[in-house]
Amino acid sequence: RYAINLNVRGIQPSATLRINELSNQLRAEGRDIIKLGLGQSPFPVPERVVQALRDHSHEKDYLPVKGLKGLREAIAGYINRSERMRCSWEDVLIGPGSKELLFILQLAYYGDLLIPRPSWVSYAPQARIIGRSVYWLPTHAENNWQLTADELDIICRDDPGRPRILILNYPSNPTGCTYSEDQLLAIANVARKYRIILLSDEIYGEVQFDGRHKSIARYYPEGTIISTGMSKWLGAGGWRLGCFIFPPELRPLQDAMAIIASETFTSTSAPIQHAGIAAFTGGEDIDEYLHHSRRVLKVIGEYTHRRLTDMNVDVRKPEGAFYLFPDFSGYRDDLARHDIKTSAAFCTALLEDTGIAILPGSDFGFVPDQMSARLAFVDFDGSAALQLASGAFADA
Ligand code: PLP
Repeated sequence: RYAINLNVRGIQPSATLRINELSNQLRAEGRDIIKLGLGQSPFPVPERVVQALRDHSHEKDYLPVKGLKGLREAIAGYINRSERMRCSWEDVLIGPGSKELLFILQLAYYGDLLIPRPSWVSYAPQARIIGRSVYWLPTHAENNWQLTADELDIICRDDPGRPRILILNYPSNPTGCTYSEDQLLAIANVARKYRIILLSDEIYGEVQFDGRHKSIARYYPEGTIISTGMSKWLGAGGWRLGCFIFPPELRPLQDAMAIIASETFTSTSAPIQHAGIAAFTGGEDIDEYLHHSRRVLKVIGEYTHRRLTDMNVDVRKPEGAFYLFPDFSGYRDDLARHDIKTSAAFCTALLEDTGIAILPGSDFGFVPDQMSARLAFVDFDGSAALQLASGAFADA
């Protein structure tokens, strides 16, 4: 009876949010639920940033579509300091979460979407809603789930001039893996050869456990857009602030996105943008917060990895973010005896039988009967963990 857009029919609400709602519902019914489904930072927002939000809570005006100049300057300063890309404040676009910006990027640019398999749950549905084609690029656990330059070349060489966007997310949701500089360079060279727009999703860049996060923008500056925000390293997912940083060569694309923004969300909430200035300007307190967050996540990630490995589950050790992508196919026969033949059925049974919520690999682009799942190791008291990290085991 209702003329629902055909592109939207058949797409389920975001898997991550669905499992979170189910976990909450079971908790409300009194069940003891271990929430390893939703990828939300366990840490509180740093106090100085919360104070900035309080100080600006009276700000009520619409802001410029591309964002508050002070925030764009703070973000440009942050990107330059971290040596990801040389940029000016005019290269920055602010939006209500990087998810929204990823969506309007695909509205503004006409091209196929290339994503490694497995990838974050929302890239492919966003493309499908808009009616774009999605190409999954194979990656392998033995290879730390890294896309290789060869795989990218193979998919592009048949039709070299075709407009395409490649999204590369590292450290990765769902695998926790990242890339070496050599690997980034090799991928960048192929992207340049085929003039692919490279969206470098660096939302977990600050939570890379060892060494400094490096951006592929260093190797393909003219074609790379960096995506980041405050959700994953600052604990402020619900505040909804994301940003894209464009090279000057892609200014027309940035302007096209700003037109769509002006006709849709208008601008991101003013108090949040002011708080963002405090966050991206940084300071010793935020450096310390990040230092301790990384240490806590590394310890918990490695512990979880060890426990799974002890159970003969095949899983890569995480290098950043807060995810593991274990493969339970070693248990396939046992599971089949209980009529569990898909990763979705496995995750549902796990939640119902044990109260542990994780997400099926099929939500990340895997075929249903591949027994992988994503585990977000974030169900702990982030404030207490930060206190412990800054005192009790600071030098451990
Ligand atoms: N990219 C990745 C890989 C993510 O995991 C997420 C959130 O889960 C996002 C982007 C979107 O983040 P936000 O819209 O909160 O900036």
